[in-house]
Amino acid sequence: MNHDASVEQQILATIDKWVERELRPIAREYDQADEYPTDLVEQMKELGLFGATISEEYGGLGLSASTYARIVSRICEVWMAPSGIFNSHLIMASCVERGGTQAQKEHFLPKFASGELRGGIGLTEPDAGSDLQGIRLAAKKDGDDYLLNGTKTWISNGIKGNCLAVLTKTDPSASPPHRGMSLFVCEKGDGFSVGKKLKKLGYRSIDSAELIFEDFRVSADNLVGGEEGRGFQQVAGGLELGRINIAARGAGMAKGATKMALHYAMERKTFGKAIAEHQAIQLKLAEMSTRAAAAELLVSQAAAKYDHQERCDLEAGQAKFFASEAAVQNSLDAMRVFGGYSYSPEYEIERFYRDAPLLCIGEGTNEIQRMIIAKQMVARAS
Ligand SMILES: Cc1cc2nc3c(=O)[nH]c(=O)nc-3n(C[C@H](O)[C@H](O)[C@H](O)COP(=O)(O)OP(=O)(O)OC[C@H]3O[C@@H](n4cnc5c(N)ncnc54)[C@H](O)[C@@H]3O)c2cc1C
Repeated sequence: MNHDASVEQQILATIDKWVERELRPIAREYDQADEYPTDLVEQMKELGLFGATISEEYGGLGLSASTYARIVSRICEVWMAPSGIFNSHLIMASCVERGGTQAQKEHFLPKFASGELRGGIGLTEPDAGSDLQGIRLAAKKDGDDYLLNGTKTWISNGIKGNCLAVLTKTDPSASPPHRGMSLFVCEKGDGFSVGKKLKKLGYRSIDSAELIFEDFRVSADNLVGGEEGRGFQQVAGGLELGRINIAARGAGMAKGATKMALHYAMERKTFGKAIAEHQAIQLKLAEMSTRAAAAELLVSQAAAKYDHQERCDLEAGQAKFFASEAAVQNSLDAMRVFGGYSYSPEYEIERFYRDAPLLCIGEGTNEIQRMIIAKQMVARAS
């Protein structure tokens, strides 16, 4: 893992330049058209983003969660959707790196790092999201393979990606149910198809899909960890990084909305002065900047714990909960500052307002986060 501060600064400087040169100029147009940013994906491959948190021995950049979080925040300060193209991909990679067999790590991680295999995680089903133990997608042993049957929904990168870590039920009668859950790395092929592309309020340009598995044959070699019944824990482990990533997105969006509001408030004049000089607007700006700064600190705290391989479900939950709510509130406050122009697609703030609520839903809703936080509080105090 790379902890060298000067290396981090170089990487962040490269990301900043890329964001300004490639991302900012196209964000509004691509979002409005819900167009997939193919060129950006190629650039992300060159930047090494598909291997950002994968260890160097497997061809990744081996970045710490702290550096990774800063990269994510800087992208999301401008446009949140592109971060989703490599974020859920890296959760898949984290599940394999933490829970996979040596052979699986050697086979998959270099391909994930280069972007040759690219995708995300398939957990949610039409009838099960928060309650993952209620999933139904079945994986049945058939010789040296498994046959997968069922449906996943809301899967990010489900159309443009070619690979997915799929959470299944290998033993539907297991008690408790999580003991009957297993994770498979599935490369697209016969029997693994896109049901439909899903339309969305925000988070456009990145594909979200319903995916259908019909007698999809996957080798037992792709069962993460090589043993049935570990899928739920493997996913929970991967989601720690996922929550830090969502928190980093929230902190970035909260900061981006604040910057936009400040800039606008200094330009826009009413009653003979810039609206930034009206106390009502100043109060909003102060609250927004404080929220954004607090979100950034919570993200740093959670990422540092993760990097020190300490248990961080409480810290990652707090960061995810607070930073995502900060993104929503700051987007709404910025809309107020922009007045009527907030409603115009000519300005970027309406996209923030549509994108931010997803952060309160993904990687465990904020209701679930609060339960995780409280359970950990009790456990740590006992
Ligand atoms: C744009 C987008 C992209 C996504 N990408 C992915 C992806 O790549 N992979 C993937 O697997 N999933 C993905 N999801 C799905 C997402 O993870 C789920 O929507 C989320 O986990 C919530 O599940 P649900 O929608 O089934 O809501 P439900 O679980 O039905 O929850 C509905 C409401 O009830 C609340 N609730 C549920 N249980 C409790 C409880 N015990 N106590 C209190 N409140 C509770 C929830 O907080 C929520 O407010 C994505 C979703 C969206 C919208």
